[in-house]
Amino acid sequence: MQHARQSPHARDGVIEKGMVRVTNRAGKSPFLLVCDHASNYLPPQLGTLGLKDADMLRHIAWDPGALPVALTMADMLDAALVEAGISRLAIDCNRPLDAPDLIPEVSETTLIPGNAALTDNDRAERIALSWRPFHDTIETLVEERMAARRETWLVSIHSFTPVYKGFARPWEIGIIHDDDERLSAPLIAALNAAERFDVGVNQPYSPADRVYFTLERHARSRGLPCAMIEIRNDEIRDQPGQQKWAELLVGIFSRLQPRQTKAVAV
Ligand SMILES: [Zn+2]
Repeated sequence: MQHARQSPHARDGVIEKGMVRVTNRAGKSPFLLVCDHASNYLPPQLGTLGLKDADMLRHIAWDPGALPVALTMADMLDAALVEAGISRLAIDCNRPLDAPDLIPEVSETTLIPGNAALTDNDRAERIALSWRPFHDTIETLVEERMAARRETWLVSIHSFTPVYKGFARPWEIGIIHDDDERLSAPLIAALNAAERFDVGVNQPYSPADRVYFTLERHARSRGLPCAMIEIRNDEIRDQPGQQKWAELLVGIFSRLQPRQTKAVAV
């Protein structure tokens, strides 16, 4: 059983503000990890959004397995990690504020009754609850690091469902990037060399699906190298799988240097 609706405050760690957590803030690694869909927690004021408990365990509510992988990587790399502590069904931190699925009324094929007919005030409350503190926290951290002239390579860790709308996805891992490939190209090459598995390049999503928002906002806007990692969630549903993928990625990350080409303008 996964940790349904576990409060993000239930685990040890530093609470920055609101429903955001920063782990290992002073980590020495150039990598700065983010986990937008870490939690399936719904704060009490939102009730159940009209969903069953079982729905809150599905990928529609969060990225199962992504947070344990990200935490293990943060520990092994000595990297800082920023995680959002509220379900993406309440508000999706990896979407621009004008995205139609910022507060989804339907996710995959499931209706989200508690997200129907929201007022402007309701939407503002959701943004203040999670989206704003999450992005403010990353902003502060990135600005601090840049002021200290620390290298910062932003990597987001996600998971995806093996079957989506009836389509079985063959990739065990996907690397999502735009036309700045400084980090993604060596990462993809190392993954292809490391194991025999299918590496999705801009699969199962691409920036055209507007899933690249957090990296666009904090890394691309500043010319920082970045990449988005998507791991198929059946690979990381238990601790041995999470450990295996964290170790594989950390092994690659430890040797990874972004290509020394200039940032591509957004
Ligand atoms: Zn995700």
